[in-house]
Amino acid sequence: MKHYTKEELELYRHHEMSVLRRVACSAHLKECTACTSLLKELDTDDAFVMELRDSIRIFDEAAKRDMGK
Ligand SMILES: [Zn+2]
Repeated sequence: MKHYTKEELELYRHHEMSVLRRVACSAHLKECTACTSLLKELDTDDAFVMELRDSIRIFDEAAKRDMGK
């Protein structure tokens, strides 16, 4: 069985795969725990990045408020 790479799963996650490849990919994911866990790993990475962005935004807002004083 051919597995998907991180790059391919990124495309899948961001809906940048052609419909045919998407269908094949989701069919593969249903049967492959290795690729499913890789996909989950990418999701975890995203959650981390989002959290990081959030804290940067909060910091920015606090900095702006301080400048307005
Ligand atoms: Zn696989």
